[in-house]
Amino acid sequence: MVGLAWHKLLPEVAMQSYSPEAREWLKTHPNWDPRVRLASPFERSDVIKRIASEPAHPSLQTQTELLGDDEFDGLSQRVSQVNGKCMYPAFQAAELSMARLHPEVLSMLAEGNEEADGDMLDGVPDWFIGPMLRDVIMHETGHTIGLRHNFKASTLHDMADMNNDDFEHEAICGSVMEYSPININVGDGPTQGDFTMMTIGPYDYWAIEYGYTTDEESLPSILSRVNEPLLAYATDEDAMDADPSTRRFDWAKNPLDYADSQIRLVKQLRVTLLDRLVKDGDSWGKARSGYEMLLNKQFSSVGIAADWLSGTLNNKSRKGDPGDRNPIEEISPETQRRALRIVLENTMRDEAWQLDSDLLHKMTVEKWWDAGGMGSMRTEPAFPIHDRIGGLQASALSMLLNPVTLGRVYDGEFRNESNIDVLTMAEVVQSVTDEVWSELENMPRKTTNRNPAISSLRRNLQNEHLSKLIELSLEQDSGSPAARTLQSLVRLQLNEIKDAIDSANASDTYTRAHLADASTRIRKALDAQFAVGSAPAPSFNIRNRFGEDTQ
Ligand SMILES: [Zn+2]
Repeated sequence: MVGLAWHKLLPEVAMQSYSPEAREWLKTHPNWDPRVRLASPFERSDVIKRIASEPAHPSLQTQTELLGDDEFDGLSQRVSQVNGKCMYPAFQAAELSMARLHPEVLSMLAEGNEEADGDMLDGVPDWFIGPMLRDVIMHETGHTIGLRHNFKASTLHDMADMNNDDFEHEAICGSVMEYSPININVGDGPTQGDFTMMTIGPYDYWAIEYGYTTDEESLPSILSRVNEPLLAYATDEDAMDADPSTRRFDWAKNPLDYADSQIRLVKQLRVTLLDRLVKDGDSWGKARSGYEMLLNKQFSSVGIAADWLSGTLNNKSRKGDPGDRNPIEEISPETQRRALRIVLENTMRDEAWQLDSDLLHKMTVEKWWDAGGMGSMRTEPAFPIHDRIGGLQASALSMLLNPVTLGRVYDGEFRNESNIDVLTMAEVVQSVTDEVWSELENMPRKTTNRNPAISSLRRNLQNEHLSKLIELSLEQDSGSPAARTLQSLVRLQLNEIKDAIDSANASDTYTRAHLADASTRIRKALDAQFAVGSAPAPSFNIRNRFGEDTQ
């Protein structure tokens, strides 16, 4: 049952990387939508109908008054902000169950903590649950005294600094109003630092000082500190922008360090699923829950990385503020390329999923016919390998190749001086192709149907990649300059992939059939693309707004 809950969270985790504009685009491209691709097969058509009937972004259905603008906010039937926007307790509950499910996490957090023994509360040690509860209470108390979320507050310190005895700050984060995940030292520094906020942060002191100062003449000097790094601030409205540093649930000065660290944690915990997570007498279904939870963690880390490919770092500096900062700053090309590598290496390769025969024969489903367990009855005990991994890979390709994200990369090319080697739209498209079709470079001579030159997961990925390129190549002209350029790049890619396929020699039937089919699909798509009025890709079904198949 727990495993199914993790399963349901994954589509929402994947949606974090989509701006309102990208969500609008997804509405007409359901095969790109992670909520569709990561839904259980029996729920997929309902999910498509639901998405078609909802506004593209939650912001379009909330009240338009500024949050906290009403004089009774926080007093009347509200515990925090308008529309119940505070998701922090739910998020921390997920973090808590992660630590509870994987005992290794608690062992890691206990390292060097002299108080790490004593009483247990519902299977969780007091030394852990106490500070976690205090953290949530500090956050919610912040709302009741007027504070907004601060999603830049997690970007103050390096992972290595936080996990070091020499750390000189009282709090590991700028504010208790951040959605801050647990700080776990996975080889990031010499010692495990505070795993959560132990006290309020510098931004909180500053914001309260401003809000509760009645002497108006003192306000300008308080405000003059606005550009101090420890006081960095961005809130819910800003989280919809293309600034990756305002993402919820990320961590550290360089969130790519955090993404890498979390992926190391996932790899480390996966190999303990059968031996350490499932105890004698436990159901093997626990291994499935643990695996699904780690898929969430992995994909959330990949999503954090994907956000750093494009966009800008934004701040609220005004003319005349100390420091003379531009309100829009650039992400370094090194960071952009590192982000792209993290996404590709942790989603496109078979080894990224750490699935083996032993694990796949054990991670089953516990079935319960009661509230919250109904979905388990419709879930096969055997893990749906190709559907699940294929859905994750399709979602990763969507993150990288959707025209809205690539349009931002394209704008970045113009915004920067031409001597700066920024990541270009052409480079992103080419890098994805190189990773997805890497087998064509060095096709092994002797292969068999049991050990094919291209594995079943990779054939599935390559088909997905082709579907996406073909769909982009056949899109009707949307009038977007970036989309037009993307279309010509995609056509070039299709031509080059076809040339590489046609000169590749495989000896196993699966690979030969796959490549022959791929070559034919590309040829037909290239033939069709200049036909007058050509529209949606002919090679797979697209569902319209009413859930009916169209061709
Ligand atoms: Zn909150």
